[in-house]
Amino acid sequence: MWVKIMGIKKNQNQILFYLWFSLLITTMNYTSIEVTQYVNEIKQEKVELQAQQEKVAKENREKELEEQLKMVGVNKEGKEYTYDAKEIQKKLKSCDYSNDGNKIVFLTFDDGSSTSVTPKILETLKEEGVRATFFVCGKTIEDGGEKAKELIKTSFDYGNAIGNHSYSHDYHTLYPGRNLDIDAFKKDFQKTDEILKDILGEHFSTRVIRCPGGYISWNKMDKLDEYLDENNMAEIDWNALNSDAEGKKKNAQELVKQTIKTSSGKDIVVLLMHDTYGKDETAKALPDIIRYFKEQGYEFKTLS
Ligand SMILES: [Zn+2]
Repeated sequence: MWVKIMGIKKNQNQILFYLWFSLLITTMNYTSIEVTQYVNEIKQEKVELQAQQEKVAKENREKELEEQLKMVGVNKEGKEYTYDAKEIQKKLKSCDYSNDGNKIVFLTFDDGSSTSVTPKILETLKEEGVRATFFVCGKTIEDGGEKAKELIKTSFDYGNAIGNHSYSHDYHTLYPGRNLDIDAFKKDFQKTDEILKDILGEHFSTRVIRCPGGYISWNKMDKLDEYLDENNMAEIDWNALNSDAEGKKKNAQELVKQTIKTSSGKDIVVLLMHDTYGKDETAKALPDIIRYFKEQGYEFKTLS
């Protein structure tokens, strides 16, 4: 009836078809809107996920940089084996080697890296699973070329600590007339700092130094104390030695004997040794020296 009113003659099937068709179009439109919304949502999620990933990556980069900036003397792995050098400096200065029975030994090697002795020392340290502190000299490193530089890197990566022992090791430059020349001293040490940065990365720094000839051997050292305090640095001498640089040349057995003699009765032992050219007997004595300290219940730590 209403079909007639509209003046359009269509049979019921046609009307049903139009109705169905309209419904289909509406549904399709609706579905299309839904699909578009869904796609937009996915896009949005993707953008958010990407932003989140970028944020995490940025945070990681910042963290890494922060870690690198804190890289003083040892790397991330080396932190596990290290000890506050300032504390040990205080102990050594006051000649107080007690530590409530907790025995700690700091194996220290001066004057390297040499391409002849240092590799043997590093091998033994790895075999025995212990770490040491290397007070290196810039000039020796330069003389050893790429191989010496590579040794520093290997040593550092293993978790050893790297300290500065000057560039020239020249007493006349550092202490003319046996008196400290603080400007010459700083300049000389700075040169080694730069060499170490060149090898270990621009973020590397060390707060631990050892004075050539030992801090106690020279006059007017108060200027150095001021400088070290201002820069939160520490100078470390020793309270035991294997005597590989004293008196007549000793064989490995004698070096072990000297080590035991000078370290016994001390909870805290800072043992002076050398890994420069000609110190092959030190490399030979090292396995026995390490085993001795292990048997005595010492923990091996580094200084940084
Ligand atoms: Zn030295």
